Amino acid sequence: MIEVKELNKYFGDLHVLKGIDFNVDESEVVCLIGASGSGKSTMLRCLNFLEMKNSGEIKLKGESIDPNSDDLNGVRQQVGMVFQHFNLFPHKTVLQNVIEAPIQVKKISKSQAKKEGHELLEKVGLGDKADVYPSKLSGGQKQRVAIARALAMKPEIMLFDEPTSALDPELVGEVLQTMKDLAQEGMTMVVVTHEMGFAREVADRVVYMHDGKIVETGAPKDIFENPKEVRTQEFLSSIL
Ligand code: ATP
Ligand code: MG
Repeated sequence: MIEVKELNKYFGDLHVLKGIDFNVDESEVVCLIGASGSGKSTMLRCLNFLEMKNSGEIKLKGESIDPNSDDLNGVRQQVGMVFQHFNLFPHKTVLQNVIEAPIQVKKISKSQAKKEGHELLEKVGLGDKADVYPSKLSGGQKQRVAIARALAMKPEIMLFDEPTSALDPELVGEVLQTMKDLAQEGMTMVVVTHEMGFAREVADRVVYMHDGKIVETGAPKDIFENPKEVRTQEFLSSIL
């Protein structure tokens, strides 16, 4: 589904992604872990072209994407993204937040968008909040609206960048459950997270990044119980 080869990214002189090779299969859930500054967010942002790579190749469903000639808005529609901060439109209701992009970008009819929007809100457990403004929601509810909003574009892949790290602890579970449901439906997902319980339970594969490189990748059981690399061991012992 995603194939990344020899990806390099610089911010000025700072070499942030150093020759990354990374694949995600259809319906696979990959958790990306690593210390602050190791390049996890930059990696996700390169995958949906919010950041432009300096070199290397990014293939989506077998097709190499060239940011200079390909329709990046079309690419971004296939790759949904959920951020740490929900970035909902404060002056729009929950339903309006969810239907905005399908109507504006995909040009689907308002009635169809509303129908699908209500279905998505049901799915994330917010069927009764359609007409409420974001300021009236808890952080966990806002994040579930953000997930519904990303899903409204019918992406092939969902990227999550620390979706629960801005939440109060008691609200983390409901968002992780929504993500788990999505994984069980077969969504292809790349999740940057510090929630090792989620990674253990839901990920098919865990990728450990350090200093712009992938140091180790494997099944959650292997990474958490038997990491091969010293740096992975050190990282895990620092957080677990
Ligand atoms: P965290 O766990 O703190 O979110 P991260 O693994 O997501 O960290 P990135 O945000 O990808 O790390 O940052 C990797 C490196 O790139 C850091 O050194 C960061 O300071 C730098 N960096 C990120 N974005 C920019 C930018 N827009 N301009 C310049 N440097 C940047
Ligand atoms: Mg980050």
